[in-house]
Amino acid sequence: MSKEGPAAPRVRFSSADGEVAALAARDLSSGLAAMLGIEVESSPDASLPQSEIRIDLSDSMAAATSSPIAPEGDSFEISRGAESITIRAGTERGLIHAGSNLLEKLGAQFPPGVAPSYPRIDSARLAAIEPWRVTPAFKRRAFASDIMTWNYNFADRLELHLRHDREFIPWMARGGINAFSYIRHAHDTRLKIDEVAPLLRERGIDVEYGGHVLQLLLPRESFAEHPEYFPAGDDGVRAVRGNLCVSNPKAVALVRAGALAYVHDHPENKLLHIWGADVSRGAWCRCGQCRALPPQLQYMNVVNAIAGALAAELKAPPIAYLAYHDTVEPHPDLKPLDNVWFEWAPRERCYSHAIDDPVCEINPRYHESLQRYVEIFNGRGHIFEYYADAILFGGLGFATPAIVASDLRAYRSLGITSVSCLTFGAYSVMAYPVNLEAFIRGSRDPGFEPHATLVGTAAGRHPRCAAEIAAAYDAVERASKLCLDYGDVMSPVMTPEKAARKRGELREAVLTFDEAIAAADQIALSLDTPLADAEKDLWRYSSDVLAGLSDYLGALGQTGVHRRIWGEAAIAKVAAAVERIRGIDREIKGTWGAYDLEWIREIWLGALQRGLDGDGKPAEEMF
Ligand SMILES: [Zn+2]
Ligand SMILES: [Zn+2]
Repeated sequence: MSKEGPAAPRVRFSSADGEVAALAARDLSSGLAAMLGIEVESSPDASLPQSEIRIDLSDSMAAATSSPIAPEGDSFEISRGAESITIRAGTERGLIHAGSNLLEKLGAQFPPGVAPSYPRIDSARLAAIEPWRVTPAFKRRAFASDIMTWNYNFADRLELHLRHDREFIPWMARGGINAFSYIRHAHDTRLKIDEVAPLLRERGIDVEYGGHVLQLLLPRESFAEHPEYFPAGDDGVRAVRGNLCVSNPKAVALVRAGALAYVHDHPENKLLHIWGADVSRGAWCRCGQCRALPPQLQYMNVVNAIAGALAAELKAPPIAYLAYHDTVEPHPDLKPLDNVWFEWAPRERCYSHAIDDPVCEINPRYHESLQRYVEIFNGRGHIFEYYADAILFGGLGFATPAIVASDLRAYRSLGITSVSCLTFGAYSVMAYPVNLEAFIRGSRDPGFEPHATLVGTAAGRHPRCAAEIAAAYDAVERASKLCLDYGDVMSPVMTPEKAARKRGELREAVLTFDEAIAAADQIALSLDTPLADAEKDLWRYSSDVLAGLSDYLGALGQTGVHRRIWGEAAIAKVAAAVERIRGIDREIKGTWGAYDLEWIREIWLGALQRGLDGDGKPAEEMF
């Protein structure tokens, strides 16, 4: 507390720093001002070293004693002097994370999907702050999104997504997320969202481009003149779809040149994600020369061709080799160059169990494949996780904070220092807020407490009905465990034995979602709670869909007319469930809930119908 004048506390930042540190200082001073109930000014100061912010508690401006070891990377350190608090970070963006972490220690909350809360405190509480130091457990802490979910061809839909971005990106930065990866699909006309760029840049968040771009790097127009560049099927017929013929040197040279141009045109790109077509199989070449090469080796040949050309360029980003679908199993003959990292995306894994849980009937195979990837790539690897994947989870609400915690600990114990989580804008925040919070906390410290995270997220999003929503989230977590062990929730393809068991488990999950709804029904009617109402509708959707899927599994066990009648009634139940989502405010459910769910559900319903007709083959190419 200041005895020397009314000016304190005030925030100073190094004038040698740029816009990121200035934003960190503003964010900190406005948070302190809200909590202390007084003006807190922030100003640049030439006497401060880089990546340092000073909070003067009095006018004395005496320096704090900081440790002699300067923080590295995004690490930060809070140190104390008698009349000041010093924040030092290894990077300017580390200052944003540090300032928010300091405000959290004082009682502020930054919950996903709602405005921060800054409770009033006494200035003595700020003066009592003790020193601490944070080194994030993972060096790369990223979110990833499909560019198409911005619906950028429609101005009003794009603006709806941008309203979400303006809240979400500051939330990411405050939680220490340091990269954002745009996933491009073959039909995308953009490789990034220009309107989002300043939000990321001002916070020092790295951008990464790429995605399913191999098809773009070999222009499809060249098919007419050079069909030999394109992949052949088992019948030897070349097709314009899929990746390329890797045995054709001209095709490989064309793709390499395309990738180099991509890198040179976008020097801000920090990691080049070169992925193949987004299909389970059939995108690689089966011509006479290629057919001896499994997909992993065909893919590696192309990636190494690009990596070899980029190796000589100091500023070129590393390249990510996607381990996914037909490449999730590493081939022992993989020989990645030093600037190639694997990007491991275990989409069909089980989310009812942790990745290293030996009890699980699915995950041990994935965990083992990951260990082999780590060996082959000498530890150079990124994890691509699906904790907030609205497509994988059928748009149902789920919460698996304990799985996120165990997974991240398992990934760290393999020496992996890079994790990302796929998101679908506002919809992911509505349906998976606990998982997003768990991911953000766990990427800093995988020792975080998952249940406290669930309770804290409930309280942060719903301060006036925290207990009711915490009870609801708890039920959602229990329901999640019953549903997430067969891959895509909307595609219940499994053995008859598992189907018989799963039918009962999904029925139990319905009752568990009903518990969540009942818990939320306890909220006083006098309270106006639009966000809780939206989540309740989401859980009704989840309950209705799971009832339909349970019935569907029952129908598949029948024959003849019973199979047909019961199956169609089950599909009708799944189809009708969407009305619950249609009733939710689009500001809460975002572009994915308002538009993308509508076309994706047609694919889901079509697949369920084909499964009933006896053709269980999933849709080959979703996008
Ligand atoms: Zn070929
Ligand atoms: Zn499992």
